[in-house]
Amino acid sequence: MSDHVAKTQPVLTLPPNMMPSSATSKKHPCSSLSVTYISRRKLAEVVDGLLGVMTLSTRKQPYVHSGCDISSDKVSGNNTWLKKCPSALASFDQIIARTQGKKIALFLDYDGTLSPIVNDPEKAFMSPEMRTAVKNVARFCPTAIVSGRSRDKVFDFVKLKELYYAGSHGMDIMVTCADSESITKDNKEAKLFQPANEFLQIISEVNKSLVEATRSIKGAIVENNKFCVSVHYRNVDKKDWKLVTELVDGVLKAFPRLKVTTGRKVLEVRPVIDWDKGKAVEFLLQALGLDDPESVLPIYIGDDRTDEDAFKVFRERNCGFGILVSQVPKETEAFYSLTGPSEVMEFLNSLVRWKEQS
Ligand SMILES: [Mg+2]
Repeated sequence: MSDHVAKTQPVLTLPPNMMPSSATSKKHPCSSLSVTYISRRKLAEVVDGLLGVMTLSTRKQPYVHSGCDISSDKVSGNNTWLKKCPSALASFDQIIARTQGKKIALFLDYDGTLSPIVNDPEKAFMSPEMRTAVKNVARFCPTAIVSGRSRDKVFDFVKLKELYYAGSHGMDIMVTCADSESITKDNKEAKLFQPANEFLQIISEVNKSLVEATRSIKGAIVENNKFCVSVHYRNVDKKDWKLVTELVDGVLKAFPRLKVTTGRKVLEVRPVIDWDKGKAVEFLLQALGLDDPESVLPIYIGDDRTDEDAFKVFRERNCGFGILVSQVPKETEAFYSLTGPSEVMEFLNSLVRWKEQS
């Protein structure tokens, strides 16, 4: 996998008010945000609860916005959900009205947002049509990919140099010195910001330990994402899900500076620093000179629990909004919803059409 950024590039410094802490604070210092954090001791109990939620959610039929024959109960539930978190497509005119002439800054999660969730995380490819949609919208809106994957890996999936990339849940950020108007110029100077740099060796060690510990679990996949490690259990027999968490729990006993958060059938092993996708987005807005709410409207589209950190930053600051990608109702800080990557693509294409016409 090629790193499209030279190793000698300068490293960005963090504004003092955004410096990550090595303490195990659960609060976002800027927004009082509770970071999703599960202590190792409580991990098994929490996963027990998650398994219950997952079992319930598998009984639900996907909610759709239109065109499907569904029962009256589901219609009622769907209506309640869409009242709370309306379709971003159905509300497109309202969204455009919210821009009030401001520049839109786009933040896009990758897995489950631009690409479908698949059994093999190495094969979570985005479609050529989606790549074209992202490329087109980036002509009008500064666009960043914010993913739990390593930055190199998500770039290899997206393959668009005109975007900004924040990998490892925002712990590996690449931006340019250029302002947002000149992001497509070839002479841009790439810079890196890596708030968890000191954890590189520890992550490498825990990755080896997790691979070894889960070797006997059929279907378990350990993915080294540079500043975090993902343990996927999507392909593991449900009866072994608890065993996976117990094995991860056991490994982490030797790594007190790491913590675990949860995603869509994945356990994320991460450094214990006060940093998440919300802080990454705040950092990007500052670094790119897009942090003036009078002239910029940030929109974040994502499907994962970790994306809620970004949704909440925008909601609390009243400076933008999140769009949750989900087929089922969820507790969310997002303002709008889309049902899946195909609707995300439709939304991006709608933005392009609107920009081209205006
Ligand atoms: Mg995702």
